[in-house]
Amino acid sequence: MKLRGHHLLCVLGFKGMGYSQSFIDNMAEVVAQLRDSHDPSIEIVDGPDDICLAAPGRVGDSCGHSGRLDSEARVRDHDLRVLKWLGVASGTLVEWSRVKKMVAERMKPSDLALTCPSCPWRPLGVCAEGIEAVRNDI
Ligand code: SF4
Repeated sequence: MKLRGHHLLCVLGFKGMGYSQSFIDNMAEVVAQLRDSHDPSIEIVDGPDDICLAAPGRVGDSCGHSGRLDSEARVRDHDLRVLKWLGVASGTLVEWSRVKKMVAERMKPSDLALTCPSCPWRPLGVCAEGIEAVRNDI
C-alpha cells in the first residue's frame, strides 16, 4: 500500500467523512485493509497515494484538492511536516504496526494543531481521537 505522509495520520481517525462519496468509499477500503490485514507494509510516497486515487479533481501528479500543481506543493509541505514529526522519510517501506508505534511515541492529540494547522477536518476532533486511540493501544 502506498500512503503519503499526512495520510499516515488521517487514516487513524477516519469516521466516514471526505470530499465525495467515491473518495469516502476508497478511503474506507484503505482503512479496512490496514485494520484487517496482518501488519501490511506501507510505502511512504511523495505525492498522490492510494487514498488520493479517488480524490475529486485529481489531475496526474497533482492531488485532488483543487487539481492544481500549487495545491499539490502545499500538500507535499504538509506531508514533510508530518514525516519530520514522526522521524521517517518518504521512500521508506514500513510496517503498519511501526507507523502506529511512531505516532504513539511521538504525537499527542494537541500536536495536530502544528502538523495539520490548516486542515478543515481537524476541528471536528476525530483525528485527535484517532491519535489518542493509538496511544492507548500501544
Ligand atoms: S487534521 Fe486533517 S490532515 Fe491532519 S490527520 Fe486530520 S484529516 Fe488528516
